[in-house]
Amino acid sequence: MTTGYEARIAALRGAVRGRVLGRDDAGFARAALGWSVGVPQRPVAVVEVADAADAAALVRHARTAGLTLAAQPSGHGATTALDGTVIVRTGRLRAITVDPEAGTARVGAGASCAELLAVAGAHGLTFPAGSSPAVSVAGYTLGGGIGWYGRSRGPASASVRALEIVDAEGAARTVTAAADPELFFALCGGGGDHALVTALEVALFPAPALYGGRIVWPAERTADVLDAFAKTTATAPEELSLWLSLMVVPPLPDVPEFLHGKSIVALDSAYLGGADEAAELLAAFAAIDGVIMDTRGPLPPAELGAICAEPTDPMPSLHRGELVTDPEAVFALLRDLADSGGVLPLAFVQLRHLGGAYTRVDAGACGPFDEPYLLSMMGVTPGEEIAAAVRARIASLVEAARPHVSGRKPFTFLAGGESTSAAFTPTTLARLRAAKRAHDPNSLFRSNHPVLN
Ligand SMILES: Cc1cc2nc3c(=O)[nH]c(=O)nc-3n(C[C@H](O)[C@H](O)[C@H](O)COP(=O)(O)OP(=O)(O)OC[C@H]3O[C@@H](n4cnc5c(N)ncnc54)[C@H](O)[C@@H]3O)c2cc1C
Repeated sequence: MTTGYEARIAALRGAVRGRVLGRDDAGFARAALGWSVGVPQRPVAVVEVADAADAAALVRHARTAGLTLAAQPSGHGATTALDGTVIVRTGRLRAITVDPEAGTARVGAGASCAELLAVAGAHGLTFPAGSSPAVSVAGYTLGGGIGWYGRSRGPASASVRALEIVDAEGAARTVTAAADPELFFALCGGGGDHALVTALEVALFPAPALYGGRIVWPAERTADVLDAFAKTTATAPEELSLWLSLMVVPPLPDVPEFLHGKSIVALDSAYLGGADEAAELLAAFAAIDGVIMDTRGPLPPAELGAICAEPTDPMPSLHRGELVTDPEAVFALLRDLADSGGVLPLAFVQLRHLGGAYTRVDAGACGPFDEPYLLSMMGVTPGEEIAAAVRARIASLVEAARPHVSGRKPFTFLAGGESTSAAFTPTTLARLRAAKRAHDPNSLFRSNHPVLN
């Protein structure tokens, strides 16, 4: 006899052309997980839509069948908020076309930042991508997107010109700031809780020269590197972005073996300009001896992801972000952390310099951010014992930092279980909630951090 669940999956299969995996199908357990495989997502089904028309067919079916849809292109932002939903994979919506005259790109909702950087780079253009090339343009940009170039361009959501969506009625349409200001505002940085996006039109910008890379010192140099970081970021032009990390180097194949397991302090830099000016701007770091590795050099814009060389294969991890209001106190905290044995069991603790355009650019629901630095931390969690240790370390660091942070964090840095009220100002949250009630009154769509929670 067919169960109610089996009948619902059969109806779903009848409604869409893409692959549908239900709980009883081989491969469902893996398909239900995102890139952050440590998050035990429990959807009722996973649907890989075939194209934009299929996405619209799925939404129309979900309306009548009472299903909730959660778009998740790759799942770097996996959370248990997606439990009970149908996870929508957009991996087949990958087309990217660049209009070099207009300086824009139309990007399918499944395309990755690496793919966009490569296609745009061929035209001498680029996009304000973040540290990981593997995240999707959609997931990163709909959540705001704090990346390289943000100091001169603002969050990635400031680049959005138009969004092709399927709305809660199942209608495919294009949303622009002029035609639909509140929905556009909500989708640009609000996290994707208001519609199913099938493609984004984003502004690109010319990147004639890019100079960047990572300098690594042993952790014993942390105080000197922090001093140089404080001094350099105080006067840095907006074309220069600096991120400082205390790390334990992971034993990854791309990382030189002599560094495996070593406690280090790393300075990552990206400069929109040439080598000579970059060297001048980083003069304070040149005086610090003991450099273990220096990967800086001219970079093709498409190689932006190489600066941090973050892992691209799925992994279990826990993370946390905090916007810093008292930098001196947080620098002191990092100094103490290095002096007292380093970041273990975390993989890294990082400070990103913000300022510049982050303080003023209209990027929809994301920002502006007055806090000058973003503190973030992450630990890899292959088992429950290590996960407990990572959780405890994050909690103690956050407690120590509490008087020196605003309590707010960018949406894309919200940890699982954190509420959207930690990411948005009360005014922005009220606008996001009003837009949700107006455009998705039955909560057909659910993001990884729903705005009504
Ligand atoms: C290694 C690593 C590095 C990172 N670096 C940065 C960084 O430098 N800067 C930064 O800002 N963030 C960073 N993040 C966070 C990351 O940007 C977010 O987790 C982002 O959401 C990931 O993109 P994704 O493709 O994996 O999104 P997913 O986790 O797949 O999706 C996230 C959310 O986006 C929404 N969404 C995605 N696609 C659609 C769609 N088509 N329609 C409607 N809503 C949609 C949904 O609400 C979904 O839950 C990083 C995360 C990791 C794990």
